[in-house]
Amino acid sequence: MKAVWVYSESDAVSNEVASAAVDVAKGAGAEVQVLELGAQRPGVFASGGKLLLKGPPSSPTPGAAAEAIARAARELQPIAILTGATRTGREVASRLAAKLRIGCIAEVSKLGADGESIFGERNVFAGKAVARVSCPFPAAATVKVGAYPRLAGGNGGLQEKDVGAVSDPVKVVAREAKSAGAVDLKSAKVIVSAGRGVKKKEDLAILEELAKEMHGALGCSRPLSADLGWLPEEHHIGLTGVTVKPELYLAVGISGQLQHVAGMKDSKVVASINTDKDAPIFQASDYGVVGDLYQVVPAIRKALAARA
Ligand SMILES: Cc1cc2nc3c(=O)[nH]c(=O)nc-3n(C[C@H](O)[C@H](O)[C@H](O)COP(=O)(O)OP(=O)(O)OC[C@H]3O[C@@H](n4cnc5c(N)ncnc54)[C@H](O)[C@@H]3O)c2cc1C
Repeated sequence: MKAVWVYSESDAVSNEVASAAVDVAKGAGAEVQVLELGAQRPGVFASGGKLLLKGPPSSPTPGAAAEAIARAARELQPIAILTGATRTGREVASRLAAKLRIGCIAEVSKLGADGESIFGERNVFAGKAVARVSCPFPAAATVKVGAYPRLAGGNGGLQEKDVGAVSDPVKVVAREAKSAGAVDLKSAKVIVSAGRGVKKKEDLAILEELAKEMHGALGCSRPLSADLGWLPEEHHIGLTGVTVKPELYLAVGISGQLQHVAGMKDSKVVASINTDKDAPIFQASDYGVVGDLYQVVPAIRKALAARA
């Protein structure tokens, strides 16, 4: 019987991915097998059966999990291996794709299959469009977390397979905590966010002061952290940065490209300062000032000081 395998480091995510696997198995005329690595996991459910891989530790690193699953897959030939699109799941799936030389569809929801291939849907262009992606069997896939309801029960028979001892080829040589001063944009009620309208690094000081005076935090667009290195990466907001939802988001000298807006569009109130009246940020703003930040920001600070 053809099999669709499910693996996740988390019981809850495994049960979601198992629901997705049911759709794939239906389309492909296969059964779903949920993998347990090292030890049985009573909180993990399967619509078909479970496959216990003996040899790896019960909480393997992504590298060790991928090695154990790859060894079993070479022998048992599942048509698809599904993980959750979590940090670990992404790593396991991509390692499996490389080890088994198979394709991988990433971050998909609404999965299905026909006789030849697996398919799924993935948001692209910051959620403005949906791509339908497919890959011939055998394939790996990472399933978007939250896209499927969790299986709440059901377990078929248990199969066991000894894959031998596995170890992670990657050794962690040291762990270093992030500096205590790192900004916490997710819980900030006010964010003053700097863009390329700021002419030089030293000028960020006026925005930092404004953020302090408003009891808020300083964020930025990607170029300021990734390209110019003016602020650490945890300040960068957007598709590839932090997603924020403050009470007030003040975008200063930010054009409002969709990759930036994707990270701040759910702010309660958005206000923007930009010299260009046609800047797209104004489309995403409740309030806008068409003006030079070097005049407008000092004016706001003066007004705040006068109110204090
Ligand atoms: C795959 C990918 C992912 C990306 N992810 C992100 C992301 O997560 N976050 C992100 O921010 N970007 C991201 N980007 C980059 C994004 O496309 C834009 O390039 C970036 O957001 C632009 O930053 P900006 O608005 O600061 O700069 P610009 O687009 O250069 O805009 C500067 C703005 O400042 C205004 N201005 C100039 N002088 C002044 C002044 N004196 N006073 C007031 N206004 C002034 C200008 O009119 C202009 O509108 C990504 C890009 C790609 C390709």
